[in-house]
Amino acid sequence: MPYENELAIAQSAVLKACRLCSNAQSSLVSEETLDKADKSPVTVADYGAQALVLRELEKAFPDDPAVGEEDTGDLLEPANSDLLARILEHVQRIDPEMDQDTLLAAIARGGHSGGSSGRFWTLDPIDGTKGFLRGQQYAVALALIENGEVVLGVLGCPNLEMGDEKGCLLFAAKGQGAFQAPMSDLSQTQKVATDSISDPAQAVFCESVESGHTAHGRSARIVELLGSTAEPFRMDSQCKYAAVSRGQASIYLRLPTRPGYEEKIWDHAAGVIVLTEAGGSVCDTFGRPLNFSIGRTLKENKGVVATSAGVFDATVSAVKQSL
Ligand code: AMP
Ligand code: MG
Repeated sequence: MPYENELAIAQSAVLKACRLCSNAQSSLVSEETLDKADKSPVTVADYGAQALVLRELEKAFPDDPAVGEEDTGDLLEPANSDLLARILEHVQRIDPEMDQDTLLAAIARGGHSGGSSGRFWTLDPIDGTKGFLRGQQYAVALALIENGEVVLGVLGCPNLEMGDEKGCLLFAAKGQGAFQAPMSDLSQTQKVATDSISDPAQAVFCESVESGHTAHGRSARIVELLGSTAEPFRMDSQCKYAAVSRGQASIYLRLPTRPGYEEKIWDHAAGVIVLTEAGGSVCDTFGRPLNFSIGRTLKENKGVVATSAGVFDATVSAVKQSL
């Protein structure tokens, strides 16, 4: 099976990162109130998760570069030596062989510029940091891009439910379908599929919690144009792609809040391949395909529209009309 080894390594790396993030998040939610909480657990978890994942990839695929959200700039400041020590402590609970130099080198591997030739990985070590801080949804998102095309993705969602279990992994490789499994037991893998509705009035919408990340007012107009009466539900991170991929929502809208913002490839690559392999469709707010081949951002695109196939055309029309 193509990408079998890549998928196994990516799953194992994402699971390790999720364990680190869950450990860090539990120290955070035990604070009296989240507002007062120290934000350093998210920092520890961002860096620690990137170190774990990129180290695993380096061991398995030493020639593959990576585009990761974090870099080592701040960590090398003497003022942050305590933070670095805490990151190392968290990482060593999962990977006892990691030393400080290996950790810094692993994080720094994420500095690749992306592009259209060859293959590279892209990682968001914690997607949805606001959700992470609120004790809600977040994801560790890892994807493989080959000649500008996303061919494999793994979404680790430690707070997303699958049946009675909390914590699930969604994954897909090109041409092979999309799957989910409880994090505690990958042998319980199940195929996932989007819903099969064709009437947009029945569509359930999802969008970011953060009004700075998507224009809530415009999505409300789109919902109205499509005749849907269901209240949109809000969720942080690429768990929204998971929701559409599993048929819990039909439409995920990400509508630009300011003109100059460029979506980051690590915020979408894993979610896009899971969704398209689950039967869904994705484009930007002008109906253009997302272009992952031009660097670290989707600079040729504006926003994202992700839906199950039966409501795609109607949704894209309504999005254009809502401008
Ligand atoms: P979400 O959890 O869906 O709200 O998305 C979280 C992601 O939003 C983060 O990983 C950021 O990279 C990204 N982000 C930050 N600022 C913006 C913005 N102005 N528009 C869209 N996305 C943003
Ligand atoms: Mg992100």
